[in-house]
Order: sequence, then C-alpha cells, then structure tokens
Amino acid sequence: MSKVEKFLIKRGNNQYEVVIGLEVHAQVNSKSKLFSSSSTKFGAEPNTQVSLVDAAFPGMLPVINEFCIKQAIKTGIGLKAKINKRSIFDRKNYFYADLPQGYQISQYKYPIVGEGTVILDMPYGQKKVGIERLHLEQDAGKSIHDMDPKNTLVDLNRSGVALMEIVSKPDLTSPEEVNVYIKKVRSIMRYLGTCDGNMQEGSLRADVNVSVKRIGESKLGTRCEIKNVNSIKFMQMAITSEANRQVDLIEEGKQIDQETRLFDTKKNETRSMRSKEDAHDYRYFPDPDLLPLEITDDFIQKIKTEIPELPDEKKSRFIEKFNLSSYEANILVSDLDTSKYFETVIENSDVKLSSNWITGELFALLNEKNLEISQSPISSKNLSKLINLIKDGTISGKIAKTVFEIMADGDKNPVDIIEEKGLKQQSDPKELEKFIEKVINENQDKVKEYKSGKEKLFGFFVGQVMQASRGKANPQLVNEILKKKLK
Ligand code: ADP
Ligand code: MG
Repeated sequence: MSKVEKFLIKRGNNQYEVVIGLEVHAQVNSKSKLFSSSSTKFGAEPNTQVSLVDAAFPGMLPVINEFCIKQAIKTGIGLKAKINKRSIFDRKNYFYADLPQGYQISQYKYPIVGEGTVILDMPYGQKKVGIERLHLEQDAGKSIHDMDPKNTLVDLNRSGVALMEIVSKPDLTSPEEVNVYIKKVRSIMRYLGTCDGNMQEGSLRADVNVSVKRIGESKLGTRCEIKNVNSIKFMQMAITSEANRQVDLIEEGKQIDQETRLFDTKKNETRSMRSKEDAHDYRYFPDPDLLPLEITDDFIQKIKTEIPELPDEKKSRFIEKFNLSSYEANILVSDLDTSKYFETVIENSDVKLSSNWITGELFALLNEKNLEISQSPISSKNLSKLINLIKDGTISGKIAKTVFEIMADGDKNPVDIIEEKGLKQQSDPKELEKFIEKVINENQDKVKEYKSGKEKLFGFFVGQVMQASRGKANPQLVNEILKKKLK
C-alpha cells in the first residue's frame, strides 16, 4: 500500500485518529421472509403482508427459507469469507411494540459466515478491510410515531424479513473510507443479486461504531455506536460529528462512556440513546424451534458454481484485456449495469474511446438528469455507433459532442442526425484548401509574423479554419495542409 492519507482531528498540538467499525444490515433479496412465506414487497399497505408466524401467534413455528440461506452463503463467498458449515439461530430477547414475538431470531456465537476481506480502492492505494462475520436475522416491524397525534401505530409488513448483518473489523479510518466501503459491499451484493442495496427503501442501513485515539497509539479508544444510519452522507456526517465530540471530551480530561447514540440529521450531532450501564441483556439462547443449521460441502460447492464474475475480478480482467488504467477500470466495474453497458459498447467499438465517452459525457449526462445507467437516454447501441463515427473520421470529437446532445433527446441514431444536420466532417483536401486559402488571404499580417518566427500563431490559423468550416473540417488534415501552406 502506498502512502496512507490519515483523517486526523487536531486540537492545538494534539492529533487524533478515528477508528470505525460498521454493522451493515442488508435486506436479503428474497420474495418471502426468513421464516414464513409472506411477501417482502416494498411499499404495500400496512399490515397486509403478515402471516400468523410474523405476527407471533401462539403455537406458530418458524420454517427456514432455504433461498435466504443460499443468499447469505453467496454473499459470504463474495466477501471472501469462511462459510461455517454449522451455525445456530438464537433468540435475542427484548420487548418492543414492533416485535410481537418478544425476541428476534438472530445468530450470535455461531454465525453462518466467518472472517473475510473487502478491498477498497482509495486514492492512496488499496486498503484491506476485515470482515468479522455475517449473520442472518429477522427484521422487526415498524413503529410509526407521526401519523396519529396520540398513538404510535405499528406496521408488521417488515416483521420477519431476512437481514444479513455484515460486521466489519475496526479497520476503517475516515468518512471517505466508509463511503468507499459501503459502496463496495453494496456493489458485491448487487453483482451477486443477494441485496438490492436500495438505501431509500431501507434495504441497506448501518450501525456505525466510532472511537478516537491519539495518533500512533495502538490501543483502541472506547467506542460509541450510532444506530441505524440510512444514507452514506449521514454516516459520514455522523462520524465527523461524533469523533469531534469524543476528542472534545478527552481534551477536557473527561472519559468516553461506551453507549448507543442516535444521529440527529437536522442538528448534525449525535445524542445518547442508552448507556452501557442500562445496556440490554438480551439473554441469548438457541431457539428451541429451530435445529442447528448444517450445510454440506456439496451445497456450498453448488453455490460456488453460481457465483458470477465479481467487481475485483472484472476489474483485473478489464485492466489486462483492455489495457485500461486501474482508475478507469474501477469506475467501470463499480456498478454492474455500467460494466454491462461498457461491455456492450465495446463489442463493436474502440475500447479507449468507449471508456472515455462513458465515464465522461455519458456520466455527466446521467448525473445532470439524475438517472441510473439502466435508464440512460442513449442506448449502448447508439453510443457505439457514435464512437465508430469518431473513430473512422466521419465526425470530429467536437461535433460528436453536439450529436451526443441531440441523441440525449430521444436516443436517435447518430448516423441519421449527422445526415439531417449536415454535420459530416470535411475530409476532402480540395475543400479544406479553400477554407485555408481564405484564412491566409484575410490574415496576411499574421502570416508574416508567423513566418518571421512567431510559431505560436499556428493555433490561431487552425482555429480560424475550423471556424470558417463551422467546426466540420477534419482537424488533423487542416494541420497537415496548413503546415505545408505556411512554409
Ligand atoms: P455489538 O453487539 O456491541 O454491536 P458487534 O460485534 O456486533 O458488537 O459489533 C461491534 C462493531 O464495533 C464492529 O463493527 C467492530 O469493528 C466495531 N468496533 C469494535 N471496537 C471498536 C472501537 N474501539 N472503535 C470503533 N469500532 C469498534
Ligand atoms: Mg451489533
């Protein structure tokens, strides 16, 4: 790893480092819940997707959803983690209105997935972040406090939905690393199809553990856990605000209490929710309704054959096969749809130009219109055509930008646009000479200056010719002919 840029908090002569560990809650991409057959579809009317199991009616028994197990194992493989052939579902006991069972079925000492690694591409090089474990658990329902002035309402649609909790080691050291980490984990899960990663719909959220220590100190400081943060921006704000709060306390000679905190997005500060003293004793014990989960080697092997090429491997292939820089490859693989788009474009077009146009013009357009690449107003087929028109000299790169803008308004075929608007590049030397002679005749004084040694003027002549041709002259040919004429 090259030079690591540290995120430091300074107070006078003292410098502090920040240490962060994340517990990411990722909703398993599954049509039905972890222990019941109710639908998990987002946005349904409250309490319409609740079976007797989800509502915890007496005598109901949970039945494990095999698909969710597969999804967790797939994710574990994507995180380069150890798959545990034996894991156990525990009851985590607590009382809350949106938890009718009075306990959450989760995994504690024996999770389905053990230690793994995620690689982050940072501007200062690659950074490895350790994964502590991944376990399966049920989600709780939702308490709604703002619909009725006097009562809290409960929606149990989410009750029993399968979550993967992915716990990182305390290896992250800045808000920017957290940003890259979340995006990387999300990207791996999207490649695998195990979680849609939709943060607006709550499919991906995280508890953020933060501590600070004097720079160079090896012992970790006391951590605070900020619960349930549901956007990357809020995670970054929460970390900065919480780390500064802790540093202030240390500077005042006070101690950090290990506690659970909430992030107030409006005030940009964290607030205590509960301290360690009144921390829950969840009284974990193995759920007697569920047998230990035993997985065979065959089962794991079969899942391995279903694992697609993942971002790290795709990136290596793009670098080796297409000679892309690590930076470009990284951008192109970070999102599965982008990589698919790119691979379709280059089936028929120049790789380097394709990469430039996708990461440059196309990304700018999508950004401006706030669209995903899957909603791109320009299809991969038409972008490929545009790139070929540049490559074979039919249009210049500059004209291509104009054509691109027109294409953005309804995905028109660039060949038709060029025809309609008469934008074809002028590459006939005879025609070009006409423009060049006109420019030379009209600028005799500049020609003299040029010939007497002011070579910088060459660009001026090129510019004038381009203007005279309304941007259509082939710039390379203009260069060549001008050089001859001005000798
Ligand atoms: P808990 O049940 O208390 O939430 P977990 O094991 O589920 O404990 O998660 C603990 C999280 O806190 C992990 O992501 C871990 O990396 C992180 N963590 C542990 N110690 C520190 C520390 N000193 N500073 C920051 N994060 C920490
Ligand atoms: Mg935890």
